Amino acid sequence: MLIKQKTLKRSARFEGIGVHSGKRGILRFKPSPANSGIILQNAADPNEKIEIGKVVPLRAMHATVINNGNGWTVGTIEHVMAAIGGLGIDNIIVEIEGSEFPILDGSSLPFVKELLEIGFDEQTAAKQFITPKDPISFHDEEHNRALYITPAQQNGSGLDKKLYLDYRADFNSPHIPASSLKYCLSENLFVEEIAPARTFGFLEELPFLKKHGLAQGASLDNTVVITKDGFVNKRRFEDECTRHKLLDLLGDLTLLGKSLVGTVKASRTGHSFNSQVVESFIKTPEKWVTI
Ligand SMILES: [Zn+2]
Repeated sequence: MLIKQKTLKRSARFEGIGVHSGKRGILRFKPSPANSGIILQNAADPNEKIEIGKVVPLRAMHATVINNGNGWTVGTIEHVMAAIGGLGIDNIIVEIEGSEFPILDGSSLPFVKELLEIGFDEQTAAKQFITPKDPISFHDEEHNRALYITPAQQNGSGLDKKLYLDYRADFNSPHIPASSLKYCLSENLFVEEIAPARTFGFLEELPFLKKHGLAQGASLDNTVVITKDGFVNKRRFEDECTRHKLLDLLGDLTLLGKSLVGTVKASRTGHSFNSQVVESFIKTPEKWVTI
């Protein structure tokens, strides 16, 4: 069955503070034509755009930050990107007033709920997927991080255009045991199991982050906080932190600009590490195939 591209039925607006800058930002999601892709747009200057899938994000530690190469930088885009990727949206304009996406409740859920409420228009063009030609892997031995992508496999009716996820997190914390998640990604699974997982942070790291100008907007309304005594907030899932790491990874994989299919096996990944996948796709396109 031919899978078609999709966009939003109408526009949506979000407003809130950025978790790192503490500054207010406004986002507008707008429908866009088939084959136009995911576009970030500066509300203050219509000439400043970023075409997702054509830009390697910056090597930032605590958020996904992207730059148009001309001075326009926008940060903490990952939870919106996860919502777009998790719902399988192909074409959308995300307009931003400010320099950081609003954190809202720290998860993708507020974006997802609004997008589902608006609904989607199926477009005439066929949806495009990407997969590596051969298995591809990334390692950071010092921090024990790894990410493997294996190509989409043949099934009875052609290539299996699904994304299989196998994620392992280990935070070296007595309050968060190491845990794994294994999923075949679908819209329902994303909405129920991944999108609600919130940003989390260790209270003992807060002074360091604040000193470096980060986490200025962090609060118990947008961050699950862990102290030396355990969790401060009530959790949405027992393994909420692991699910949030997977949400962040999905957001970073959405920066490929097309839906990744195949199997992703990953452990202890972070935004800076994840940016290597997009870098591989942009700098070595011969290793990838669009299907
Ligand atoms: Zn996150």
